Amino acid sequence: MAISAELIDELRASLKGGSEVFLPGEEGYQSGVKRWSEYSEKAAGAVVAANSTPDISATVVFSATNSIELAIVGGGHSTGGSSSTDGGIVLDLSLLRGVTVDPTAKTIAVQGGALWADVDAAASEHGLATVAGTVNHTGVGGLTLGGGWGWLTPRHGNVVDNLLSVTMVLADGSVVQASETENPNLFWAIRGAGSNFGVAVEFVYRAHEQRQDVWAGLMVFPTEKLSAVVEFANSVTGVEDAAMSFGFSAPPPLNSPAVLAAVFYNGPEEKATEIFAPLIAHNPLMNSAGSIPYKTLNGMLNSAVTHGDRKTAKGSSFTMPVSPEFAQSVLDHFSAFVSRVPDTNQTLILFECIDPTKLFTVAQSATAFANRGKYMNSVVVPRWISPEYDYECREYAREFDRLFRAERERKEGAVTHKSGVGQYSNYSETFASAKEIYGENYERLVELKMKFDPGNVFSKWHPIVPQIKVQN
Ligand SMILES: Cc1cc2nc3c(=O)[nH]c(=O)nc-3n(C[C@H](O)[C@H](O)[C@H](O)COP(=O)(O)OP(=O)(O)OC[C@H]3O[C@@H](n4cnc5c(N)ncnc54)[C@H](O)[C@@H]3O)c2cc1C
Repeated sequence: MAISAELIDELRASLKGGSEVFLPGEEGYQSGVKRWSEYSEKAAGAVVAANSTPDISATVVFSATNSIELAIVGGGHSTGGSSSTDGGIVLDLSLLRGVTVDPTAKTIAVQGGALWADVDAAASEHGLATVAGTVNHTGVGGLTLGGGWGWLTPRHGNVVDNLLSVTMVLADGSVVQASETENPNLFWAIRGAGSNFGVAVEFVYRAHEQRQDVWAGLMVFPTEKLSAVVEFANSVTGVEDAAMSFGFSAPPPLNSPAVLAAVFYNGPEEKATEIFAPLIAHNPLMNSAGSIPYKTLNGMLNSAVTHGDRKTAKGSSFTMPVSPEFAQSVLDHFSAFVSRVPDTNQTLILFECIDPTKLFTVAQSATAFANRGKYMNSVVVPRWISPEYDYECREYAREFDRLFRAERERKEGAVTHKSGVGQYSNYSETFASAKEIYGENYERLVELKMKFDPGNVFSKWHPIVPQIKVQN
C-alpha cells in the first residue's frame, strides 16, 4: 500500500535540513532505489535523500511513529535487500560523503554515506590509510558495521578494530556518540551488528602511516594451473605484508572458466617480485601486477564486480592449507554451473587468503563481530540476467556453502566453531541467522537491542529479534 499523501506532506514538513523526498516517478527516486545488484532492488514508497543529521532523526521518528518500514542505504551493495524496501522508506545517505583527515591526531572522520574510494583518496593525501574494503565502490556504512576486512587486515585488524567512535541516530531519533568511553555497550554492539542499532552518520577511524606505492594486481591462469596457484597461496599466506585471493570466473573475452589471483604486497616492487616469483613463473595469461599508488589499490578488483545485472552473495569459510583436490572440486562445480545456467559467466568465486592472525589479538567477546578465528572467508557471487534463474542461482550459492562445510568437516571432524563462527555477516545476508553470525555474542546483543531499539525500527539486516514491524 502506498504511503498516503497526508503522511508524505507530514514527512516533507518535518525535514528542515535540506533533505528531499522523492516518490515513484519523480526525478531522484530512481537513484535512491538503484542497487549494485538489480536482484536487491525494491519499489520503495518514498526515498528520503538525507542532507543533515536532524533530517535523519526526523525520518527515523516518522517511520517509527507510523510503523513504516525503514531501509538505510549507504553504498548499496547489500545482496540480501537489507538496504531496500517494498513500499517503505529508503533513507538514502549518498549525499553525505565528506571525509576529514586529521594528520596530527591520525584520525579519519567519514560521513555515513561515503564510499571507500572517498576515504582512500583523502587519507593518502597525508600518507595515511585505514583498513578499507577491497572494492572501493562499496560503502563505508554497511562494510564497517558488519566488521569489515581488507588488504591491510593482516597488519591492522578488521575495520571495526580501527573504529574509534561513531555518531549514531538511534530508534527514538536521539543523536549519540559511541566509543570505548561513551555508550560503550552501544559501541560494542555496533562493531559487528551496527545496522541493527541505528543510522551511523559519522565514523571516526584510526589512521596508519601508509607507504605511497604498493605492489598489486590481477593475474589470470588457465584452469590447468589451479594446483600450482593453490600451492602458492598456501605458502604465501602469513608472509608479512603479502596477501592474495584466488578464485574462479569466466569473464569476457575468455568466457570460459579461468583461475584468477589478486595479489598484494605492502612494500617495494623488488621484494614483491621476489616473494611472488614462484606464482609469476607459472606464466599467467594476463598479469597486471606492478607498483601502484596505494589510493588505487582498492580499485583493482572493481572491473570484476561491476554494477548491474542480478547478483547474490554467499560466504563460507576454509582453513589453511587449501587442498588442491578440494579447490578442483569447487572449480568443477563452478564450471558445471556456468555451462548449465545462461549468462552466469561473470559469477565470481574467491578464496580470500588474508592472514587472520591479527584478529586474534582482540577477544571474541570484545566486539559483537564474532568471526575471530582460524577460518578464512570464501565467497561466491553468482551473477545472472533473467529473473527466471533466481532460484537456480541462489541454490547454487547454497551448494557452494555445503561444499565448504563438508571440506571443513573432512579436515577437522565435527566443526565446533569455537574459534570464530566461520561466517562473515556481510557475505551471507539472507543465508545465515543472527545466532549463527554472532555466536557467543548473540545473547548480549538481544539484551542491548531491547534497550536501544525495543520497537525493532532497524530490522532489515540479520535481524537480532524477529521482524515485528508492520508495513504501512
Ligand atoms: C563487490 C563487493 C565487494 C566487497 N568487498 C568486501 C571487502 O573487501 N571487505 C568486506 O568486509 N566486505 C566486502 N563486501 C561486503 C560488504 O561489506 C557488504 O556488501 C556491505 O553491506 C556493503 O555496504 P554498503 O554500504 O555498500 O551497502 P548497503 O546496501 O548500502 O548497506 C548494507 C547494510 O548496511 C546498512 N547501512 C549502510 N550504511 C549505513 C549507515 N551509515 N548506518 C547504518 N546502517 C547502514 C544498510 O541498511 C544495509 O542493511 C563486498 C561486497 C561486494 C558486493
